[in-house]
Amino acid sequence: MSDETVPNISTQKSQPSSDPATTRADRTETEVGSVFVSNYPAYSFWSEEDVPQVHRALADHPHPDTKLGLYLHIPFCRKRCKFCYFRVYTDKNSQQIQTYLDALAREVEHYAQQPAVKDRPLHFIYFGGGTPSYISSRHLRALVTRLKDAMPWDHADEIAFECEPGTLTQAKLEAIRAIGVTRLSLGIENLDDEILRHNGRAHVSKEIYQVMPWIHALDFDQINVDLIAGMVGETWPSWRQTVQKTIEFDPDSVTVYQMELPYNTVYSKDLLTGDSERLSLADWKTKRAWHAYAFEQLAAAGYVRSSAYTMKKTPDARFVYRDAVWTGQDLIGTGVASFSHLSGVHYQNAPNWDEYLAAIDRGDLPIHRAFATNREQQLTREVILQLKLGALDLAYFRTKFGVNIVAHFATALSGLRDEGMLQFDADSVTLTDEGLMRVDQLLPDFYQTQYRNARYT
Ligand code: SF4
Repeated sequence: MSDETVPNISTQKSQPSSDPATTRADRTETEVGSVFVSNYPAYSFWSEEDVPQVHRALADHPHPDTKLGLYLHIPFCRKRCKFCYFRVYTDKNSQQIQTYLDALAREVEHYAQQPAVKDRPLHFIYFGGGTPSYISSRHLRALVTRLKDAMPWDHADEIAFECEPGTLTQAKLEAIRAIGVTRLSLGIENLDDEILRHNGRAHVSKEIYQVMPWIHALDFDQINVDLIAGMVGETWPSWRQTVQKTIEFDPDSVTVYQMELPYNTVYSKDLLTGDSERLSLADWKTKRAWHAYAFEQLAAAGYVRSSAYTMKKTPDARFVYRDAVWTGQDLIGTGVASFSHLSGVHYQNAPNWDEYLAAIDRGDLPIHRAFATNREQQLTREVILQLKLGALDLAYFRTKFGVNIVAHFATALSGLRDEGMLQFDADSVTLTDEGLMRVDQLLPDFYQTQYRNARYT
C-alpha cells in the first residue's frame, strides 16, 4: 500500500454516506465504509464515456509548467491482509509475474511515444502495490532496465519503493538501492505479533528487527515507516509499545493511518455477515487518541509534522510524490487498476488481470474509465488534498486559480470553524489538532452538491 496518498488501487465498493456533519457527530463506532479521501470527484463518477478525453489529452501537448511522475503498480503480496481492499494477487508464480512485468514495461514504452509524455523528464517514480519488494531482484533489475530505456529517470527528484519486511533480504535491499531508490517505505503497521497475525499480515516482528539495520546501512535518502492505529486487537499498551519501538528504529518519517473497513475486505465481510463479535475494533475516538499519541511521542523525539498522517525528522525533507499528486501534477499510473491524472483528466486502468494483459497484448493502453475535470473540480481537489497538510497556502490558490479560498468556500469553512475543526482569516486556513486527526471526515464539506453522499468507488 502506498503511504499518504492511499488508496491508489482499490477494489472496494462503498455505500452512500449520510450528511457529512451528521456523520461526523455521530460516528463513534468503526463501521463498514470508506473514510479516507484520495481523490475528487469520487471514483464512482468516472466512466467509460470519458475515456476518449484521455486519448485526446495524450495526443496533445502537456499543460505548461506541469511536472510528470510515473507510478508502477506491483500487485503481488505473500498474503492478503484482512483489512486490505487493494488490487493484489497472492497466487501468481514466477512465470506469471514475468508476464505481468513484461506488460508493465510495454505499457511504459507505449506511454513514452505519446505526445503528452514524450521527452518529458520524470520528476518522480513510485513503486507501489501490493508489495513491490515481493518480486525477485532479477525481475526488478530486468524491469528497471526496460523502464529506463523508455523513460530515463536519472534526474528524477525521488524514486520511492514500498517494502514488506518479510520479503526483504540484504541482497534484495542492495538491488533496490542499486536501481536508484531514494525513499524506502516499510510497511511495519504494528509490532505485536498477535495483532499482526490476527490481521492477516504476512510478516512477524522478528523480520522487522532483522531488516532495519540492513536498511540503515544502505543509506537511503529517506526511510519511512507506516503504522496503522486501530488494527483489530489493538490496545493502549500494545500501541504504546509499537510507537516507542518505531521511534527506536530512527526512521526519517513515520506515517500513521487510522484503520478503516472499506467494503470487500475480509473483516468487512465478517461484520456484514454477523461475525463481528469476533472483532475487537476500536472506535474512531480511540483511534484518533492513538494517532495523536503517536504524533506527540514523535514530536517529543524531535519529529515535526509533515501532514495529517506523517511526522518527519528533517524539517525540510520532501515527499515529492505526495506533493505532486496534491498539487495536480501529471501522474501516469501503470499496471492493473492503476489511477492516473493527465492534463486535468482522471483515469483508471483495467481493474483485473485478464483485461489488463489482453489490452497490452493488443497494443492498446488498458484504460478502463475516466473523468475529465473542470476548473472548479480541480480547485476543490487541490483544496481537499492540501488540507491534509494541516493548512492551506491561500496565496498558492490565488496565483494558480485566481480564487480567494476564504470567500469561495465560506460556507464549509464557517461550518467547520463552528465545530472547532479549523481556524481561518484572510491569509490562512489552519486545522485545529482535532480537525487534523479527522481531516478525511471533514473534506466532503467542500464538495459540490452533486458529488456528496455518493458511492466512493
Ligand atoms: S501488504 Fe497487505 S495491505 Fe498491503 S497491499 Fe498487500 S495485502 Fe494489501
